[in-house]
Amino acid sequence: MAKARGSTPRQDTWPKNASPPPGSPSTTTPERPTVPDSLERIYRAVPSINCRGLCTDSCGPIDMSDEERRRIAARGVTIPTLAELLPTLLDDHPPDCPALVAGRCTVYEDRPLICRLWGTVESMPCPHGCQPTPGLLVDAGAHTLIQRSLTVGGRGNQ
Ligand code: SF4
Ligand code: SF4
Repeated sequence: MAKARGSTPRQDTWPKNASPPPGSPSTTTPERPTVPDSLERIYRAVPSINCRGLCTDSCGPIDMSDEERRRIAARGVTIPTLAELLPTLLDDHPPDCPALVAGRCTVYEDRPLICRLWGTVESMPCPHGCQPTPGLLVDAGAHTLIQRSLTVGGRGNQ
């Protein structure tokens, strides 16, 4: 998520019935790469958003590629794998993301794709009205970016 402070949805799937807030700009679809792909290229395809940092209570269990997990580990933060997270996903109060400290994302520069997508995709718009530029990403485009991130970053440690 493009924001001054980190936040991410606790759900690991797109809300089925969510719709963009009133006045949302039109949706966008990311281009498919024609050169070797990279996480940086994928991140650049995510709409930018002028975040007010109001979603830190949503920084719960998150999933990501192996490379994204390695980058965060290099910053001294261990994010549990999906397998490790499974027992907590149905809890009434799932644990906060280990990267969230005093209400701030301590790995913001290396936050994973799912955190960057929160608030920028048509099925999970910002609940506080922050508007992405050039517009919300269509769900299919977001899923494509996630698949690309898993292909580039690997997913062997889930
Ligand atoms: S890495 Fe953790 S603290 Fe940072 S934005 Fe994502 S969920 Fe929030
Ligand atoms: S949903 Fe809105 S307030 Fe929350 S992190 Fe994203 S842009 Fe910021």
